[in-house]
Amino acid sequence: MRWELDWIANRARLSPDSIAVVEGEAGIRFTYQELNKRSENVAHYLTSIGIKKGDRIALLSPNHVSYFDLLFACGKIGAIFVPLNWRLSGTEIEYILANCSPKLLALSSSFGHLVTEKGTKAIVNIDSQEYNDITSSEKISFNRDVSIKEIDPLAIIYTGGTTGKPKGVVLTHQSIMWNGLNTILSWNLTANDVTLTYMPMFHTGGLNALSIPILMMGGKVVIANQFEPERAIQMINQEGCTIVLLVPTMYHMIVKSKYFKDVSFPTMHTFLSGGAPCPLEIYQAFEEKGLSFKEGYGLTEAGPNNFFIDPEISRFRRGSVGKAMIFNDVRIINAEGKEAKVGEVGELLIRGKHVFQYYWNNPGATNEAYQDGWLHTGDLAKRDDEGYHYIVGRKKEMIITGGENVYPLEVEQCINQHPAVNEVAVIGVPHPKWGEMVVAVVSLMSNGVCTHSELTEFCKTRIGKYKIPKKFIIVDEIPKTHVGKIDKNQLKKTYENKVG
Ligand code: ATP
Repeated sequence: MRWELDWIANRARLSPDSIAVVEGEAGIRFTYQELNKRSENVAHYLTSIGIKKGDRIALLSPNHVSYFDLLFACGKIGAIFVPLNWRLSGTEIEYILANCSPKLLALSSSFGHLVTEKGTKAIVNIDSQEYNDITSSEKISFNRDVSIKEIDPLAIIYTGGTTGKPKGVVLTHQSIMWNGLNTILSWNLTANDVTLTYMPMFHTGGLNALSIPILMMGGKVVIANQFEPERAIQMINQEGCTIVLLVPTMYHMIVKSKYFKDVSFPTMHTFLSGGAPCPLEIYQAFEEKGLSFKEGYGLTEAGPNNFFIDPEISRFRRGSVGKAMIFNDVRIINAEGKEAKVGEVGELLIRGKHVFQYYWNNPGATNEAYQDGWLHTGDLAKRDDEGYHYIVGRKKEMIITGGENVYPLEVEQCINQHPAVNEVAVIGVPHPKWGEMVVAVVSLMSNGVCTHSELTEFCKTRIGKYKIPKKFIIVDEIPKTHVGKIDKNQLKKTYENKVG
C-alpha cells in the first residue's frame, strides 16, 4: 500500500516514543510505535485468516484501543472497519450485520449477549488471551503488496437511526484524512494536544471528530467510558487535556456538577460541543470562568467537522458554529431551491473530500442524500453577513402550525432561559385545526417549580405568539439517543396521540 495512506506507520516513525493512546480507567499507555505495531500484527492476523481487500471487519466494544487496532489494520490491508453501536438491541445489530455481512466480528466479552453467530464467519474476543497474542507478537509483519487508493472504503459507520433504520455511511481513506486535515488546520492542533474521548467510538464523534486528527498530529488520545461529570473533570486535569468534544447533555451535567464552580482547567484551550444544539446557558457558564467554549456542527456523512470559529469571536456569536473549514464547500438553499440570502433559512448542502462516498447497500438513500455532487444534510441553517453559520434545526423537525414555520431550536432557547427549567425539547404533534401544534416537553431543576401559565407568560415577551407552545408537558427526564442527544422521535411517538 502507499505510505501516505498508512499514515499511522509514518507517525510511528516520526514520534515513536510519544504516548498515542491512554486507556483512561485502566491507566494503560501505548506509544505510537506500540500502536502501529499492534495494528500491523492485527493486519497480519486478518490476512492469515483469509481477509481480503474490501472485506468487512466489525467491532462491538466499549471505547477501547481495539478500535484503533482494527481501523488501522483494515487501512493497511484494504479491509473495511465497521464499529457497531452497542446501545442497539440484538435485533438492530443483526440488521446491521446482515446489511454489511462482516467476515470477522471482534467482540468484547460484555456484549456477547447481543449477537448470534448468524451472518458472521468468525468471532474473536478482544478480552481474550488470543487477542492479546495477536496484538503483541514481536516477529510478524504484514505484506504491503495490496493496492489501495484514496477512494477505497476504510470504514462504515452506521448512523444513529434518528431518522429511521440505520444507514451505513461509507467513509474512504480520503474522507477520514481530509476531515483530519480540516480539523488540524481549523483548531490549530499540534503534537501537544490531548483529548479525552468519552463520546462512543462507534460514533463519528468519538472516532473521527478529534481522536483521529490528534493521532495524525502526534498528540495524545485518552479513552474513557461511562460518562460521569466529576470523573470527567478529574480526568481532564489529570491527563492535561487541551481540547475535548462532548455532546450538550454531558456539558449540562458538568455545569450542574458541584465541582464546576471552583475547578479550573489550566491545560484546556477549547471546550467543543457538537452533535446537537447547545443551550446558550452552557456557553455562558464556561465563559464566566474565562474558558473558551465553541460549538461545532457535524454529521457522520460529512467529516464530521465542517465549521470552525475563532475563540475571540465565539463569545460574541453564541450559537454560531462559525465559518466553513478550509477544504469544504457549503451552500444554503431556500425553499424555492435558490441560494439563500443573508439571514434567510434554508437547507445546508456540503461538498468536499471529507464527505462520505455512499450508503452501504442502500442506493436509494444515497441518491436522496447526494444531488448534483452536493450532500443534502437535511439540516436548516442561515448565515450572517460575515459568513458565520447558525444551525436552525432539522428540516423534518420544523413545525408548521396554522401555516407558520416554527423552528424548535428558537423556542427551546427561549424556554431554556427560565431559571426553573433543566432541559426542554420542542416538538410538533398533529392537530386538526393547526395542522401541527407546538408542544414543549420540559424537565425541571431539582428544586424548580413552574406552571404551564408561568412558562407561557415567560415566552410571551420573548418570542412571537404562534411559536409559544400550546402545551407544556413536565417530565422527570427527557429521553436520549445512544450518544446522549434528545430523542425527538421517541417524544413524538409518545405524545402524538396523547395531546392535540
Ligand atoms: P440519523 O442520521 O440517523 O438521524 P444521528 O442524528 O445520530 O442519526 P449523526 O450523524 O450522529 O446522526 O448526527 C448528525 C446530526 O446531528 C446533524 O445532521 C444535525 O441534525 C445534528 N447536529 C450536529 N451538530 C449540531 C449542532 N451544533 N447544532 C444542531 N444540530 C446539530
